[in-house]
Amino acid sequence: MSIVIHDISKKFGSFQALNHINLEVKPGKLVALLGPSGSGKSTLLRAIAGLEPPDTGSIIINGRDTTHLDIRQRNIGFVFQHYALFKHLTVRQNIAFGLELRRYIKKGINAKVNELLDLIQLQGLGDRYPSQLSGGQRQRVALARSLAVEPEVLLLDEPFGALDAKVRKELRSWLRRLHDTVHVTTVFVTHDQEEAMAVADEIVVMNQGYVEQVGTPQEIYDHPASPFVMNFVGDVN
Ligand code: ADP
Ligand code: MG
Repeated sequence: MSIVIHDISKKFGSFQALNHINLEVKPGKLVALLGPSGSGKSTLLRAIAGLEPPDTGSIIINGRDTTHLDIRQRNIGFVFQHYALFKHLTVRQNIAFGLELRRYIKKGINAKVNELLDLIQLQGLGDRYPSQLSGGQRQRVALARSLAVEPEVLLLDEPFGALDAKVRKELRSWLRRLHDTVHVTTVFVTHDQEEAMAVADEIVVMNQGYVEQVGTPQEIYDHPASPFVMNFVGDVN
């Protein structure tokens, strides 16, 4: 499903967090919003989700103008950095949560949960509670939960941000494989240029509420459009 963002602006008080953003995400792509802290990445993602109404502009998802719809009226999966799973529910129950709300029949739910446990490679851990999982495993369950209802669009806000460097690296390639299997249009926020380079089909470089450049990792690396992009992308930590 495509996402077309047309002329989105957002102010908090007198502070311009987003400045006339135009962007198109093609169906099935994995796109990274990359930029330093405070550049407006989360605000833009929240606007796409319907959690942050923009001051101007429109957001068209799969041809439908969703600008004035709230998150429940958009078919969106959302995973945050500190995405709390329900502590008192098992992995299976966490994944099934959204399906039960949508009144799937029981047999359908079990089959769907098994399919998702396979997808996140946590077969055999379905009866554990979140406290019995590692941080990386928990974020995989959070992803499975967001995918359970077959969203048109998946939005990830620094989903691996709270994890240590080694686990982050593992989850990178894991997310890439998952996306190659599911092909859901995905927008992924990160301030880590290495992560964006490793995972994304396309990178949107943001700075101070503006889009500085859009391109494939190779294009951005080979032909940075501004000194800002050159410094930011070159600054591998
Ligand atoms: P990023 O995700 O790139 O770090 P954000 O989109 O979270 O950036 O924030 C962009 C800017 O907008 C920051 O300076 C932040 O302090 C400000 N901001 C974000 N949300 C709010 C809010 N609800 N109220 C006031 N300022 C906000
Ligand atoms: Mg953010």
